[in-house]
Amino acid sequence: MSAIPRSLLQLINDLTQLPSIGEKSATRLAYHMVTQNSDSAKTLAQSIIKACNEVTLCSDCFALSESKQCSICSNTARDRKIICAVEKPIDLFAIEKLSEYKGLYHVLHGVWSPLKGIGRAELRIDQLLKRALDINCCEIIIATSVTVDGDATALYISKLLAEHGIKTSRLAQGMPKGGELEYADELTLSRAFSGRRPIIA
Ligand SMILES: [Zn+2]
Repeated sequence: MSAIPRSLLQLINDLTQLPSIGEKSATRLAYHMVTQNSDSAKTLAQSIIKACNEVTLCSDCFALSESKQCSICSNTARDRKIICAVEKPIDLFAIEKLSEYKGLYHVLHGVWSPLKGIGRAELRIDQLLKRALDINCCEIIIATSVTVDGDATALYISKLLAEHGIKTSRLAQGMPKGGELEYADELTLSRAFSGRRPIIA
């Protein structure tokens, strides 16, 4: 029988399910929570429950939101002629924080990867197309990462949108290795937006 209490083992096991947390880190965190700072650990637990209960996806762009429509989609001052499609909600936060972009967004929640079962439906591509047509969108910037899967996603979406006369563009080169938006700095991101180019000429 393990000398570690069962509830603590459970906590360690649960923490290892989080991204970037290995068994050593999970063990250290769990011990810290129960021995050093149990009040803040309880507050953390409540915050996790609250965020999980209250954060949902915007019905228009699928960004994280606490209401049916997110603060960007409901903001009438945003430019409704341009949509930036990103892989992850965190990419949207990076663009909002670091760039001057003032258009709308569409969060794909992944990249095109048929082998992993991620395709047109999972990336909500039909919703993107419908929205682009509904709002008479002039351009869709496809800001997926500069990886094989990210590029394949951009090409697939651009071909589909081109059939409906919708112009697509890709951010300029110069993004960090792997093209992860969340690691870009302000200057790089601004240049990437201003230097964006058509995917299908
Ligand atoms: Zn939205």
